[in-house]
Amino acid sequence: MKQKLNELTFKYAVKNAVEHSGKAELKAVISKLMAIDKELAKNLSKEIKEITKTVESVNSMDKKELEEKFNSMDFNELPERKQKEEMQLDWAEKEQVVTRYAPNPNGPFHLGNARALLNSFEYAKKYNGKFILRFDDTDPKTKKPIKNAEQIFKEDMNWLGVKADETFFASDRMEIYYSFMKKVISIGKAYVCSCEKEKWKQLIDENKGCECR
Ligand SMILES: [Zn+2]
Repeated sequence: MKQKLNELTFKYAVKNAVEHSGKAELKAVISKLMAIDKELAKNLSKEIKEITKTVESVNSMDKKELEEKFNSMDFNELPERKQKEEMQLDWAEKEQVVTRYAPNPNGPFHLGNARALLNSFEYAKKYNGKFILRFDDTDPKTKKPIKNAEQIFKEDMNWLGVKADETFFASDRMEIYYSFMKKVISIGKAYVCSCEKEKWKQLIDENKGCECR
């Protein structure tokens, strides 16, 4: 296994070096290795020295030597990360799926937004469902909304090829949320906790419920 790891490291490093003007990047090599070997991720601290040494040895080769190595290698046999299977919603019925993307509009769109957005949108599309954009703007004191949030988000969504079937601002719907909360409390499925913050936190840490329950 050890020998195999060294061989793989060497191959990935040579490939990465040739693809990046002669120098392999340690991080790129490590992420390749981890992608195909889950155990490695756990033991990385033990192996990192050896991997670094191998990458350095590749980076010390001159161009000619590197090219010779590269040409003598068969990269087709490099293991690739297994394609993850697409998650199926087995229980979902066509046209019944409703997904939502609920950003806090306190800043411009970023990559994390994009990932969550695309997940929600693609699932709705896959099942001919509905995709809702809901701005979670109910905490304006600590998360002050940006100006023209709707326009800014929609422009970026447009760029990603995403269109919302419906758009809401949570702050416009507080009465609806309150009425549902009242209903849930009245049937005993929720309760109001009036404990001090510290006590509540302590009980949570101890995995206990409070007296209000
Ligand atoms: Zn309580």
